[in-house]
Amino acid sequence: MKAQNMKKIISGSPFEGDVLYMEPMVKHTSLKIGGPADIFAVPRDIASLANICSTLKQSGIPVFPLGGGTNVLVKDGGITGAVVCLKSLRRIGVLGRDDAAVYVVVEAGTLLRSFVHYAEENGYSGIEGLAGIPGTVGGAICGNAGAFGCEIKDVLVSVELADLNGRRSVLRAEDVRFGYRTSGITVDQLILKAEMRLKIDKREEVSARVHNYLTTKKEKQPLWEASAGCVFKNPPGTAAGKLIDEAGCKGMRRGDVEVSGLHANFFINRGRASASDFIKLMEEVADRVNRKFGVILEPEIRIVGRNGVD
Ligand SMILES: Cc1cc2nc3c(=O)[nH]c(=O)nc-3n(C[C@H](O)[C@H](O)[C@H](O)COP(=O)(O)OP(=O)(O)OC[C@H]3O[C@@H](n4cnc5c(N)ncnc54)[C@H](O)[C@@H]3O)c2cc1C
Repeated sequence: MKAQNMKKIISGSPFEGDVLYMEPMVKHTSLKIGGPADIFAVPRDIASLANICSTLKQSGIPVFPLGGGTNVLVKDGGITGAVVCLKSLRRIGVLGRDDAAVYVVVEAGTLLRSFVHYAEENGYSGIEGLAGIPGTVGGAICGNAGAFGCEIKDVLVSVELADLNGRRSVLRAEDVRFGYRTSGITVDQLILKAEMRLKIDKREEVSARVHNYLTTKKEKQPLWEASAGCVFKNPPGTAAGKLIDEAGCKGMRRGDVEVSGLHANFFINRGRASASDFIKLMEEVADRVNRKFGVILEPEIRIVGRNGVD
């Protein structure tokens, strides 16, 4: 569909928020890689989100939900259709409490960092291990983010979703079909908000645990570099980073993409890296690991979009 037609469709809809056309995804991903999205929309609130999704669906324009863009590799040709970014939905509120726990509702675009900070400030326990993970609560639920033996599914009570017709539904955590860095949330479901159960604890103890996890994470991972976190999932019983390191891949480079010397499962954009170089480096690393250990590495990052001109 031509850009002009897309503009007409969006401007004729009751959408409130920001909308950009041919927006480079370099600006919206932690890897700073990716061609342009045909449409990049940031709805102001849940009602606007529902409006734009049904407009897009009726016009046959595909929708890709985006949180913080910290777990995606967008290909060089960019994204066909509309990226709907949920970063404006970021309220947190208390629903209720009992003797042991508090029930909070968190909107999907809330930064995980803000949610961890909120829990720390209030002495609520359960998500300390998620400290230092970038991105949003919606993205974390979608990929069941976790670290230090803690996963977001452990505190989730339910999740509220919208389909592309704007219809809303609530799914209990046990029905989300979580796995290791996966969930049963499909591409045509948008996470709007989630109910979480956090244990009531002593503020200073929660804070000490957050501090410890953050310190460890900073020592072991290049958090200040342009990356998407771990590129590959850990195979059963071992760490992908260890295998990549022992296969001699630290420092390997393709164009401006480099295997981190600090943590071999992090690939760093050293400047103007392309997605095609990133994917080629993934293939080379996976091949070396397979030849040395007979282990097939599976991507943890989500690769989306259309190929560019190589
Ligand atoms: C330095 C660094 C360290 C990291 N450390 C960790 C770690 O320790 N543990 C870990 O698990 N991950 C880690 N990550 C990866 C990443 O931060 C997490 O996976 C994070 O939860 C992704 O959230 P996001 O909002 O950025 O998702 P995005 O990258 O925006 O999206 C990821 C996927 O979720 C979907 N999605 C996002 N929001 C929604 C929504 N509201 N509704 C429906 N679908 C949605 C997208 O379509 C996409 O498929 C790290 C990344 C970096 C850069």
